[in-house]
Amino acid sequence: MLGCLLRRGCGPLVLLWALMLPLVSLRRLNQHGRGSHAARDRSKLLLVSFDGFRWDYIDRVPTPNFHNLIDNGVMVEHVENVYITKTFPNHYSLVTGLYAETHGIVANEMYDPVMNRSFSMETDSIYESRWWEEAVPLWVTIQKAGGRSGAAMWPGSDVKIHGVFPNRYLPYNASVSFETRVERIVEWFSAPKEEAVDFGVLYWEEPDESGHSLGPESSLMDRVIADIDEKLGFLINELKKAGLYQSVNLIVTSDHGMAQLSPDKIIELDEYVSRDLYTWVDKSPVVALLPKEGKLDEVYSKLLDANPNMAVYKKENLPERFHYQHNIRIMPILIESKEGWTIMQNRTGPFMLGNHGYDNTLRSMQPVFVAHGPAFRQNYLKTSMRSVDLYPLMCYILSIHPLPNNGSLLNVQDLLSQEAAPSALSAPPRVNVHSYAPVVGSFLGVVMVLGFLVIYIKQVMLKQLPPLKHGSREMSQPLLLKDMHL
Ligand SMILES: [Zn+2]
Repeated sequence: MLGCLLRRGCGPLVLLWALMLPLVSLRRLNQHGRGSHAARDRSKLLLVSFDGFRWDYIDRVPTPNFHNLIDNGVMVEHVENVYITKTFPNHYSLVTGLYAETHGIVANEMYDPVMNRSFSMETDSIYESRWWEEAVPLWVTIQKAGGRSGAAMWPGSDVKIHGVFPNRYLPYNASVSFETRVERIVEWFSAPKEEAVDFGVLYWEEPDESGHSLGPESSLMDRVIADIDEKLGFLINELKKAGLYQSVNLIVTSDHGMAQLSPDKIIELDEYVSRDLYTWVDKSPVVALLPKEGKLDEVYSKLLDANPNMAVYKKENLPERFHYQHNIRIMPILIESKEGWTIMQNRTGPFMLGNHGYDNTLRSMQPVFVAHGPAFRQNYLKTSMRSVDLYPLMCYILSIHPLPNNGSLLNVQDLLSQEAAPSALSAPPRVNVHSYAPVVGSFLGVVMVLGFLVIYIKQVMLKQLPPLKHGSREMSQPLLLKDMHL
């Protein structure tokens, strides 16, 4: 650049360099803001899911341990989880920040027409890596970034995904007690520095199982909810005993809520369409059907107006807000029952008193969310968030660069404490240089474009002029014009 400056004819480059100086300065300011976060030690984070813990359970019976976390941490009242509101899709969304259509675990029961394989929670198909590899869970990403992770029974965490298992994990076994799972994960966080995990995930099957069998409105659920609160108390106590409670960030949430069903609210598909015309892929309350070859329109038309308590969709007509369309594992026809209704082929099958899977904007489908630790504010109540926003928040806390996702840190960064928040949040009130950067940048961009346009037009004009009789093309314009008139 300097050599060029010393020569004549570098006018455009000099102009460009001069115009870019302010942009370079602004960029340095922004990088400084981010750098202060990247430089700090990686925080610890434990993500806990109590399967099927509906958002309002905490106020149904005394839950002192949940309320202690809330008083000293944060709570989100409305968490919009992902459609369909089933266990596997939502647990994978929590650790990828993706809607089900993108991460590929679109249901608990799936069929992939390309692989010609079925996936079911009831079979070993869940251990086949290829089902999970349309996305990368956070434990894989953190390990590839040099961190360590530990997983206690989280769906998918005992599957080799993109060639990686969590550094420490428990193979799924429902008979392993909650207390044992907690003891393992606390051990992993407490290990010597080079072996200690940075990120842990912990899963427990209740209160989902009881919610299904008893129905969420049953008074018997009170004892189940109180037991979950006691289990949370056990976890907190173990973290305290290990000296981790004040340093490990703890997020307690769930995959979905639970709706009360009734034997009076059953839709029998056999009344409307023959089983010979379709394959039943996924079950109530969002039934996925694969019509037999050439039978799509026939099945659809037989079901469309068959029953007012169900909505029938061709895949391509599913509402955009579900983000549930763009994946071959989503079947050509979906039947969604109204809240509280059950779809069966006929009444001979097993019937549950509670279920989930319905529209993710229904309050009954939404999970609890509380968090506590150095990264979080204290006694802070947030109105709403989407569950996909949790992934970028966790990446931020863990100092991990997030992979492309459907969430946004901006939506949830108000949950962060002053010390943990991005610099723009924690800075004292003043003129925010970041907010002016786009305006100044745009203005300078326009100036640059205009400058180059003027120079370009001049160059074009120069080329169209007759050769100079004297001197060179680098002569100034007045001399050229004078030359023209000779
Ligand atoms: Zn679940």
